[in-house]
Amino acid sequence: MRTSEDSYLHKGLRKKLVDQIKEKGITDETVLQAILHVPRHFFLDSAFEKQAYEDRAFPIGQDQTISQPYTVAYQTQLLQVKPFEKILEVGTGSAYQACVLAELKAKVYTIERQKKLYEANKDFSYLKKYPTLQLFYGDGFEGLPTYAPFDKILITAAAPYVPEKLIAQLKPGGMMVLPLDEDSMQRMHRITKMPDGSLVEEKFDQFSFVPMLVGKRE
Ligand code: SAH
Repeated sequence: MRTSEDSYLHKGLRKKLVDQIKEKGITDETVLQAILHVPRHFFLDSAFEKQAYEDRAFPIGQDQTISQPYTVAYQTQLLQVKPFEKILEVGTGSAYQACVLAELKAKVYTIERQKKLYEANKDFSYLKKYPTLQLFYGDGFEGLPTYAPFDKILITAAAPYVPEKLIAQLKPGGMMVLPLDEDSMQRMHRITKMPDGSLVEEKFDQFSFVPMLVGKRE
């Protein structure tokens, strides 16, 4: 069961979480504000309310996890989100990251390959707060050609390689942030598509994500 009550206790825990993330090196004030405003405990079963504000990943069913808040903040900061940008997120999972992007006033298109997770989010009333957030059931390797091009693309599962179709769905001047497999971990990459179509790749820290898998799952 989900809870939908956001108390002073929750707000206090959120403030502490933001302080921790700041200490770990997140500097973008707009990202920190978004983390402060999205009630992460709404995205977990109410039995795990206390853990919702620890800075760690957590199981959400179907062998998947809600990403660690620091990781969400890190990826969001690298994406340099601006209001009204069109953003494609691959791996909706709990929809927490999608709400952080929506909190930054982006127009979010998020895609999930697991039908059960997709359907759970369709019934998740908190998401109605963000009328421009749209959920899709599909394979992130294919992206959403009907809605392309996107200003930004964010992959929240471990990518074995850079999905070519997603590069094609990125606007010139657009950016994609993704964790790319490297040994047993992933290294965060940011790929910028220059106005002439050439790609500039930057590498950041290592993280650990669940795998990005090909195809949909019923
Ligand atoms: N952004 C999520 C993190 C979820 S973990 C959150 O905030 O909770 C990664 C998610 O990516 C999982 O739900 C997994 O099912 C999904 N995923 C993996 N491969 C995918 C693919 N090819 N297309 C879409 N979703 C995928």
